[in-house]
Amino acid sequence: MDEESPTPSDGPAGYDPEAVRAKYLAERDKRLVPGRAAIRDLTVDAHFARYRQDPHTPFRQRAPVVDDVDVVIVGGGIAGVLAGAHLRKAGIDRIRILDLAGGIGGTWYWNRYPGVMCDVESYSYLPMLEELDYIPTRRYAFGDEIRGHLEAIADRFDLQADALFHTGVTGAQWDEEAARWRIATDRGDRISSRFYVLAVGILNLMKLPAIPGMEDFAGRSFHTARWDYAYTGGGPQEPLTGLAGKVVGLVGTGATGIQCLPPLAESAARVYVFQRTPSAIGVRDNRLTDPTFADGLEPGWQRDRMDNLQAIILGRPVEVDLVDDGWTHHFAAVQQPPRKKGMTPAEYMRSAEEIDYRIMDEHRRRVEELVTDPATAEILKPYYRYLCKRPCFHDEYLPAFNNDNVTLISCPAGFERITEKGPVIDGTEYELDCLIYGTGFEAEMTPLHRRAGHPIVGRGGVTLADKWADGAASLFGMMTRGFPNLFVMPAPGQQAVVTVNYTQLAVLGAEFIGGAVRLLEEGGVDAFDVSAEAEENWTQKIVDSFIDGSSVMSACTPSRINNEGHPEAMNPRNGSYGRGMGDWFGYRDLLEHWLEAGTFEGLELDVRSPAP
Ligand SMILES: Cc1cc2nc3c(=O)[nH]c(=O)nc-3n(C[C@H](O)[C@H](O)[C@H](O)COP(=O)(O)OP(=O)(O)OC[C@H]3O[C@@H](n4cnc5c(N)ncnc54)[C@H](O)[C@@H]3O)c2cc1C
Repeated sequence: MDEESPTPSDGPAGYDPEAVRAKYLAERDKRLVPGRAAIRDLTVDAHFARYRQDPHTPFRQRAPVVDDVDVVIVGGGIAGVLAGAHLRKAGIDRIRILDLAGGIGGTWYWNRYPGVMCDVESYSYLPMLEELDYIPTRRYAFGDEIRGHLEAIADRFDLQADALFHTGVTGAQWDEEAARWRIATDRGDRISSRFYVLAVGILNLMKLPAIPGMEDFAGRSFHTARWDYAYTGGGPQEPLTGLAGKVVGLVGTGATGIQCLPPLAESAARVYVFQRTPSAIGVRDNRLTDPTFADGLEPGWQRDRMDNLQAIILGRPVEVDLVDDGWTHHFAAVQQPPRKKGMTPAEYMRSAEEIDYRIMDEHRRRVEELVTDPATAEILKPYYRYLCKRPCFHDEYLPAFNNDNVTLISCPAGFERITEKGPVIDGTEYELDCLIYGTGFEAEMTPLHRRAGHPIVGRGGVTLADKWADGAASLFGMMTRGFPNLFVMPAPGQQAVVTVNYTQLAVLGAEFIGGAVRLLEEGGVDAFDVSAEAEENWTQKIVDSFIDGSSVMSACTPSRINNEGHPEAMNPRNGSYGRGMGDWFGYRDLLEHWLEAGTFEGLELDVRSPAP
């Protein structure tokens, strides 16, 4: 954003900052109810164990595998597939991907709800488009296209044949003598590997709110990350024929809920949408890819495009906005409000608040334009600052409320309870055939060891959970002392960088891991560990970059973004590298220089078999 750009001075018509603040706080307070963040822990909850089962691929018995390989990668999503591809490029032969899922895709394997699509544009989000000579068919691709593309990458780099699907890793332990990771699974496998890569996901744990009586519900129920097509009929892009004549309840109006409401509205007899907090729904403008899109694209175009998006988000000057969507218009404007020369901090804060108000007001006006019933429209208007909740973009969600069979039920404080018939709100019981939880995922802030779902035991029997009990400690957010030959794919809240396009971060992580393993192989290194000094330095950089946003975030309606109303509890050690992603000593610069130097700076090496 240009430093000299003008900022609004008179304020939008009718803008009264005090009144807006009061309204936002009142909306927050309606939602700050005790127990609102309580969840049923699906990783251990016996009653809801069926919610985790894979509805997409039949489970097949197989004999346990006993094996020694070069690399085990836990997770076959974007991160795991990219790590595998770059390890192949580094010449690594024996790679095993292990995943609880029945196939490649991670997020895109599990999430097949109707209408599922990426919300960062496809040309930046689908990885390796140039290598695979592939152009996504739409500006925002549907999930099956993304999954298909990830499978194509896995095939190109021959990662599927040795992958073990429907296989949960239950433990991993570093064996000092053998300089190997020993990995156990729920299929009785015993696999050892030189390198261990955690690509376990950022939004991989389904979140299920704890609601009194929820186990009594006698109808069908499921979470959107395990869509039950056996019941609803149809498919991600097909009518849900099984819902004819059925009354469906949809809980949750975040990124998932907004995508699956329009198809539900088309097929069910009635849909009740239960909303705690409305999302800000910006313009999507999805469309088929222009047939001329690929004309004149130069090699390196996808990296440039990702950089262009990231630069705009970081408020850096660019010649052209290649992505040109709600992320680059609204998100970037709020994330990096322009700072006029000579502005005092207070003036800057006021100006930022006003820009935020204009954008949120635009969203509220959009609701008025698209939703015909004024009472429904009012409930759908978001009253909070733009970054309080992950922004959403959709063009069919709001108009879906104009259908006679769709009813919006506002429940800022959540449900009173669920009976065998359905939810009870303000004393009214809503009788349902089917209750669908579009309630999202545990936040990226969920500790890595919990997302990994298994103990990771390093030198001296120390677990990663213990080591990171007071916050992460790492080099580049990818290696941690006491856990030799372990790489963790970088993730937000884990000492890497913040990004709206996760793929860009995964590409960097995968390139780094591939490059580092190549160097380690060439150097005849059996085991590496992070030096204490390097880990302290990196962790200190992260702590120093921490910006305490709790004064602004505490005024937000609660969501995973503000730690469910407790932004003050965010741990600076679990923050991000302050210089961002790209150039100017950004994260990528650091990683690329580290690889180019080839000196293993910050690592302690155990070289038992020098290279010939
Ligand atoms: C519907 C939806 C849309 C999204 N859209 C976008 C978007 O547009 N842009 C964006 O940047 N991000 C988006 N995200 C976030 C998305 O999660 C990431 O972009 C990305 O897909 C994460 O990839 P990953 O490989 O890190 O993790 P995942 O895709 O979650 O893969 C991790 C895999 O690890 C497996 N696993 C974990 N623990 C174990 C274990 N112990 N044993 C065996 N297997 C294990 C899991 O089963 C999972 O398959 C979206 C998320 C969702 C849910």
